[in-house]
Amino acid sequence: MSAATEPETAERETMAFDVVIVGAGPAGLAASIRLKQLAAEQDKEISVVVLEKGSEVGAHILSGAVIDPVALDRLLPDWRNMGSPLQTQVSEDRFYYLWQTGGIRVPNIFMPPLMSNHGCYAGSLGTLTKWLAEQAEALGVEVYPGFAVTEVIFGANGEVEGVITGDMGVARDGSHKDSYTPGIALTGKYTLFAEGARGSLSKMLIRKLGLDEESGPQKFGIGLKELWEIPAEKHKPGLVQHTMGWPLDDKTGGGSFLYHFGENLVSVGFVVHLDYANPYTNPFKEFQRAKTHPSIRTHLDGGKRIAYGARALTEGGFQAIPRLVFPGGALIGCAAGFMNVPRIKGSHNAMLSGMMAAEAAFAAIEQGRSRDTLEAYPQAVTASSMTAELKKVRNVKPLWSRFGTRLGVMLGGIDMWLNTIFPFLGHTLKHLKPDYATLNKAADAKPIDYGKPDGVITFDILSSVFLSGTNHAENEPVHLKLADPVIPIEENLPEYAEPAQRYCPAMVYEVIEEGGTLRFQINAQNCVHCKTCDVKDPAQNITWAPPEGGDGPNYVNM
Ligand SMILES: Cc1cc2nc3c(=O)[nH]c(=O)nc-3n(C[C@H](O)[C@H](O)[C@H](O)COP(=O)(O)OP(=O)(O)OC[C@H]3O[C@@H](n4cnc5c(N)ncnc54)[C@H](O)[C@@H]3O)c2cc1C
Ligand code: SF4
Repeated sequence: MSAATEPETAERETMAFDVVIVGAGPAGLAASIRLKQLAAEQDKEISVVVLEKGSEVGAHILSGAVIDPVALDRLLPDWRNMGSPLQTQVSEDRFYYLWQTGGIRVPNIFMPPLMSNHGCYAGSLGTLTKWLAEQAEALGVEVYPGFAVTEVIFGANGEVEGVITGDMGVARDGSHKDSYTPGIALTGKYTLFAEGARGSLSKMLIRKLGLDEESGPQKFGIGLKELWEIPAEKHKPGLVQHTMGWPLDDKTGGGSFLYHFGENLVSVGFVVHLDYANPYTNPFKEFQRAKTHPSIRTHLDGGKRIAYGARALTEGGFQAIPRLVFPGGALIGCAAGFMNVPRIKGSHNAMLSGMMAAEAAFAAIEQGRSRDTLEAYPQAVTASSMTAELKKVRNVKPLWSRFGTRLGVMLGGIDMWLNTIFPFLGHTLKHLKPDYATLNKAADAKPIDYGKPDGVITFDILSSVFLSGTNHAENEPVHLKLADPVIPIEENLPEYAEPAQRYCPAMVYEVIEEGGTLRFQINAQNCVHCKTCDVKDPAQNITWAPPEGGDGPNYVNM
């Protein structure tokens, strides 16, 4: 490891673009492609840069994924003949309600049409974004993976001027290593924030600019996923299965997903809604338990687990979408929260929103405008099929939260049918508390006995994190920041049995006894960047900040 030197002021490089995009997920990449397409159609030039914190595009992408091709069809109409990795069309769609020893399959005819996966594709969103990045680069977009964006540059009148990438080569104590390189300033006429669920800059902008004053708080879930390779004779390409119910109790929302795709691959995953109440809930262990249910286990028996990861997802839907624009910038994709929760689908809306923001930004630049508010973008969103889709399902999550899984799912289903048949219905249920405020006190809650992993179908957390390929530079500043370092032991532990020990899917947080005293340990090197701690800490004491660019998970095919 290189020696550390005292910090000194180094000259920061500045680069100017027409449009700066933070995040190479489906939203950011679709926006970049649309900008270049518009320029090419009108024989104009436009400079576009996409910055990505993962070591390569897709390294930090984790999704199901069953993808609705509506956005790809609009963005790249010939995508099926362009070597896209999305090859497996959905062939069968199953939905079960489970109890411990069995379950019931809900006939497809009872499901509202918007829940159907007919015409969708099962695959890896990470691999798709890699391919989208290639398409973007072929059109002249500059895509830079390995650059975490850590700051927003504001102008004299509060307008967003651009962003700054994180310094590289900073030691844990703040001193500079030999490898120190200051971050780069990238300025744009417009900056699009496409960081996905609970983006760190997006969170700061939402707070600073009061973007959620009218929408109220966003809701979240944590999604855990494994990739399995199974025997060829068991593989049913395009089989899609979702479950609700066991192992979660009726008051805890969530469920499993299982998708057969590619060459004998199965994505199996589990979502736990982060408004759960029992502080002893352990989403990782709920996922492991879920795999032991015969309806899931039968797909995995004889197979081999090859990858693991976790990521938060937005669940607030239509009524939690914040104001999308502000002078100089816009939120796109899941940074704004365009996820359709009952469908567990957000990537198509992420792309559609990116395209709409790109169209607004391109038109503004063509008019000679710069760093003003792109009002045409929210106007396009309001008039879009995306909003129509999200409106139809807007009451489902609030009904689940209010009435629990059994009754909530039934009422949610009725509400979706009503909104499908009578789209003019106006009733919108509000979300109740923000997710950090929903925990019961540990004294009033029951610990959950999860049993031990068998090493065949169920696993421990550390061997799982190993499969995420997670890596963080040695001796770098801890990127999980505690506003008050005493809160975990003095408040969260007595009140909530410090839930971070259980909700973190990478065992970053531990309460350790040393010589009769308790200490809160942060194993930051394990962090898979899911952002759950930033959402769920009951004291809102933890802030997730981007570590050095390129650090974090190295997901393949996730
Ligand atoms: C478990 C799970 C299952 C899902 N299943 C499905 C499904 O089956 N179908 C579906 O359509 N959707 C599904 N979704 C939702 C879908 O993944 C999201 O809607 C989609 O990924 C959102 O796209 P995005 O571009 O907004 O954000 P993301 O896909 O999250 O991409 C954001 C990118 O920005 C980068 N980034 C973030 N912050 C910074 C920063 N500060 N600096 C630089 N780079 C940054 C990230 O590394 C990442 O690459 C699922 C989500 C989860 C978690
Ligand atoms: S530390 Fe936070 S962001 Fe990192 S894996 Fe744990 S919960 Fe997720």
